[in-house]
Amino acid sequence: MENKMVRLEIKAIKNIALIAHDAKKGELIRWCQDNYAVLRRHNLFGTGTTSAMIRENTGLNVHGFNSGPLGGDLQIGAKIVEGAIDFVVFFADPLTAAPHDPDVKALLRIAQLYDIPMANNKSSADFMITSSYIDTSYYHEVIDYAYNIKARVELLNPDKDKDETSKTK
Ligand code: PGA
Repeated sequence: MENKMVRLEIKAIKNIALIAHDAKKGELIRWCQDNYAVLRRHNLFGTGTTSAMIRENTGLNVHGFNSGPLGGDLQIGAKIVEGAIDFVVFFADPLTAAPHDPDVKALLRIAQLYDIPMANNKSSADFMITSSYIDTSYYHEVIDYAYNIKARVELLNPDKDKDETSKTK
């Protein structure tokens, strides 16, 4: 089945998700302090502990979801699906095993699927935050999900052939 694409806008004012594993929380807080002037122009979200620590240490207004191990990463993934988050900064710790690793993988997959910019370390976050697109709108192509459902229903409907025969009678 071929996917039909649709052109969507990532607006000038972005909905940015901020997440850090425990060993990386200090690094993300420093990054937020260094980029305070840019970040304050956008809408900020984050997993529970990360968002609370950024609020306390920087004064930035960050809306918090559940803690990551309690489903916060999945909430952020769901917001991407809804079109309510369009930029992710996730300082992940590559040296520590985490119980919610499948959730992190799910978030990564959803960000890839919806063509959402996602930084997984400081240098990629630095490149993204200094991009000219950070304060302008950006258009990208994503799968047209309404069309996709319609096409799948047509393709997978077990009575498809029967219906077509009865229509011709
Ligand atoms: P936390 O979750 O901000 O609640 O610590 C982050 C994570 O580990 O995914």
